[in-house]
Amino acid sequence: MSNLVRGWEIIVGLEVHAQISTRSKLFSRSSTEFGAEPNTNVNFYDASMPGTLPVLNKGAIDKTIRTGLGIDGTINKFSRFDRKNYFYPDLPAGYQISQLFFPIVSGGAIRIDLQDGSTKTIGVERIHIEQDAGKSIHDITPDCSYIDLNRAGVPLMEIVSKPDMRSPYEAMQYVKKLRMILRYVESCDCSMEKGSMRIDANISIRKPGEPLGNRVEIKNINSIKFLGQALEYETERQIHLVEGGETIIQETRLFDSGRCETRSMRTKENAADYRYHQDPDLKPVILTDERIEAIRNTMPELPDNRRLRFISEYGLSEADAAILIEERLTADCFESTVASSKFEKQKAAKMIANWIIVELFAFLNREGRTLETMGFSIKYIAELVDLILDKTISGKIAKTVFAEVTVSGKSPATIVEELGLVQIQDEGTIEAVVDDVINNNETQVEQYRAGKVQLFGFFVGQVMKALHGKGNPEMINEILRRKL
Ligand code: MN
Repeated sequence: MSNLVRGWEIIVGLEVHAQISTRSKLFSRSSTEFGAEPNTNVNFYDASMPGTLPVLNKGAIDKTIRTGLGIDGTINKFSRFDRKNYFYPDLPAGYQISQLFFPIVSGGAIRIDLQDGSTKTIGVERIHIEQDAGKSIHDITPDCSYIDLNRAGVPLMEIVSKPDMRSPYEAMQYVKKLRMILRYVESCDCSMEKGSMRIDANISIRKPGEPLGNRVEIKNINSIKFLGQALEYETERQIHLVEGGETIIQETRLFDSGRCETRSMRTKENAADYRYHQDPDLKPVILTDERIEAIRNTMPELPDNRRLRFISEYGLSEADAAILIEERLTADCFESTVASSKFEKQKAAKMIANWIIVELFAFLNREGRTLETMGFSIKYIAELVDLILDKTISGKIAKTVFAEVTVSGKSPATIVEELGLVQIQDEGTIEAVVDDVINNNETQVEQYRAGKVQLFGFFVGQVMKALHGKGNPEMINEILRRKL
């Protein structure tokens, strides 16, 4: 499948800033809690008071190692912190501590799914650790600005991809997959609303085979949808300019989601402009094999492997497996539910997957709830499926039972008993009803026997109605067929 747009190739590379899930900041004991009163999570170090010194948060290092292992990266046993100098009102030190020369992770790969069902591997260049800045607020009063330093010094991982993406779609798939991995390894909650994941996108265009064009960086995109829109817009803008004989200037742009367009922010600085140099207050980070191996031993099964295993072990379809593994909690719930069914794994799994994906998800979406707040045990899905498989209830009655579970929180078995929903499987009872239906609908019987076979459904419906929906559907079909 060609991704060319009117003969132009689009080259995209992404830098994702992901907040490392730690309780305290990268170099101080201040809390990283979201939503605190402005400037309440700021100590002397965060405000860059003279005489204060950084103390490295080991947890932030461990979580970055987890991330590196999660993307098949190389964990560097030697890494180092550098100062990146620039002035910004919400950066009180006048520099950001980052890792330019010796990042903690080098290389890595993220596999993405494409529309045609194939996969593509996107290279990761590096992951480095750095501090977040504070926040300037300009819209409270017209004549002054405010500063909130709560975020100043919050630990970030900057995950830098190779320029391997060739369309907005691929870029969106990359971020989705990256987010999945970060959540699996629990190094970032990836809440884009809370700003714990932000995307900078680099994009340029060229004719295939020609050298790269000047790239434009779109900064601080805070949703995957906006990423797609920003790249679409920027593609058109660049093609339009170049085809009109103009050149693309290397610059930083902002995406305005209201207008769905990018706007120039500043011309792009080069690394040399920042006067990077080693931070004299911090020792290099030296990692031992033991520490890396200890972390490797606590790594969860990653989404790609889990998806393949769900297909082979449970006989699920590609599509169902992909949905179930998207969140680790959903995948865990699915597996524990299958384990609690009294039926054989492959037999119960497909039905359980279907019940989770169709009925349970619809309920959660409708009610704005999650697997944690749904109000009943996930094991009830297995109980419900068991009741269908052992023919106590029909699939149709099961939906009624499930609706009752969501309201009362009672177990399916209890509900079936209380409401008297046990399926009628007694051959004599069903036969008697079938006879009644045949005797009372002579016209339809004649038409059916004359070849109007689509009337079969009518007879099934009449029998089911007489049995208050509780008849075993296969038995009804079988007896009707015999008697007609
Ligand atoms: Mn950065």
